[in-house]
Amino acid sequence: MHNLNKEISEKCRLIGCDVRENAPMAEYTTFHIGGPAELLVTTDDPVRAQKVRKLCEAEDIPLLVMGNGSNLLVCDEGVKGVVLRLDGGFALPEIRDGLVVCKAGIPLKTLCRFARDNGLSGLEFAYGIPGTVGGAVYMNAGAYDGQISGVLEWAEAVTPNGEICRFESDGLRMVYRHSVFMEIGGLVISAAFRLRPDDPEEIGRRMDEFMRSRREKQPLEYPSAGSFFRRPEGHFAGALIEKSGLKGCRVGEAQVSEKHAGFIINLGGATCSDVRRLAEMVRERVYKDHGVLLQPEVCYIG
Ligand SMILES: Cc1cc2nc3c(=O)[nH]c(=O)nc-3n(C[C@H](O)[C@H](O)[C@H](O)COP(=O)(O)OP(=O)(O)OC[C@H]3O[C@@H](n4cnc5c(N)ncnc54)[C@H](O)[C@@H]3O)c2cc1C
Repeated sequence: MHNLNKEISEKCRLIGCDVRENAPMAEYTTFHIGGPAELLVTTDDPVRAQKVRKLCEAEDIPLLVMGNGSNLLVCDEGVKGVVLRLDGGFALPEIRDGLVVCKAGIPLKTLCRFARDNGLSGLEFAYGIPGTVGGAVYMNAGAYDGQISGVLEWAEAVTPNGEICRFESDGLRMVYRHSVFMEIGGLVISAAFRLRPDDPEEIGRRMDEFMRSRREKQPLEYPSAGSFFRRPEGHFAGALIEKSGLKGCRVGEAQVSEKHAGFIINLGGATCSDVRRLAEMVRERVYKDHGVLLQPEVCYIG
C-alpha cells in the first residue's frame, strides 16, 4: 500500500490538491477522534474533486468524501484509501438568476452570513450548524423547524461514474436527515438556494437568537458531533436518554453530556471505541426503559 500511496499522492498533487499522508483524522473532525487517513486530499475546486473521484474509481481505491467532519465518528485504526476533504478556500457564494449559488466546501456559517448581508431569509435555522454546504445537503441538515430541503433549489454532484449531474429539487429525495446522494453515493460539489427578501437586521436577529439558544442548551465547550442519535418518531432522543438517568454516564473519556443528553462529548482523550461502547449502552438502556431503538445520526467511519 505504501508504494500505491506515493503514486496516488503524486497524482493528486498533479491534479492540484493538497495532500497529506497518514493524516490524523482527530485533527479534522469536531469530535477530535480518529486514527490516520492513508491519504487526506483537500481541495476547494469541483473539477479537481471530480478528477480525484475518477482516479480512485480507475485505481479501485476506497474514497471517503468529507466536509468539516462535524458529523463523523472515525475509528481508531484510521481510514484506508483516500479521504477527499472539500474546503471553502477563499470562495464566497454568488447570486445568480435569483438564487444563492455556492461551492460545497463553503462553511454553512459563511452562506448564512452572505444571505443575511444580502437581505435574504430562509437559512437562519442553519446558522450554528458547524458543517459545510456539501455536508448539509448530503445530510439534509436541520434545526429549529427548518431543513436544507426547504430552501434548496438544486445541487450538483459527481456521480460514481465520474459525471457531473444537476439534481433539481424534485429529484433530491430529501426527508429527515436523508438525501438522494446517500442512495447513489453522490459527491456534492455545488448547491443553489431559493431565499426570500427580508430586512437584514431582522434576519441577523433571528440568527443571533438561534446561536444564543445553542450556546445555552448545547455543550459547545466540548468536542462532539452534535446530536448523536436521530430523532425517533414521536420522541426526542435527548429526553429519553435523560429519563433513563444516563446524563453524565461515561465510558473512558466519552460522556453523555450533563447539559444535553442527546450529545455524547469527548472529555479529552476519548477513543472511537469509548464512544461506540457508550452509545451501545445508551441504546440498550433506552430500548429496555422505553421500547425505542435509537439509531445513530453520526456517521460511523471504519
Ligand atoms: C456542535 C454541533 C452541533 C450540530 N448541530 C446540528 C444541527 O442542529 N442540525 C444538524 O442537522 N446537524 C448538526 N450537527 C451535525 C453536522 O454539523 C451536520 O450533519 C453537518 O451537515 C455535517 O456537515 P460536514 O461538512 O461537517 O460533513 P461531514 O461531517 O464531513 O460528513 C458528514 C456526511 O456527509 C458526507 N459528505 C460531506 N460532504 C459531502 C459532499 N460534498 N458530498 C457528498 N457527501 C458529503 C460524508 O461522507 C458523511 O457521510 C451538529 C454538529 C455539531 C458538532
